[in-house]
Amino acid sequence: MSAQTITVNGIECHPIVEKCQGCERTKEVDGVKYCASYPLPERKWAQKVCNFATHMKLEIDKGGKVNVNPLKASKRAARGR
Ligand code: SF4
Repeated sequence: MSAQTITVNGIECHPIVEKCQGCERTKEVDGVKYCASYPLPERKWAQKVCNFATHMKLEIDKGGKVNVNPLKASKRAARGR
């Protein structure tokens, strides 16, 4: 276990990555932020966007093109959905 990992219910949790900044699922423990939904945040960002993220969302337009839409996700969060 490295200095920044914590163990919660037997699961080793790693600190959030830069792309997680702004997500509402982060929790701070002893000055280090962790994800409350997934123990390995860097793996969630191995694809384009973390599917649990509250601050960004993937959209697929009519042409099948994939876009990252941070604004729509933040509006949804503001409405409480
Ligand atoms: S839900 Fe995704 S974006 Fe949010 S903190 Fe967890 S890993 Fe990061």
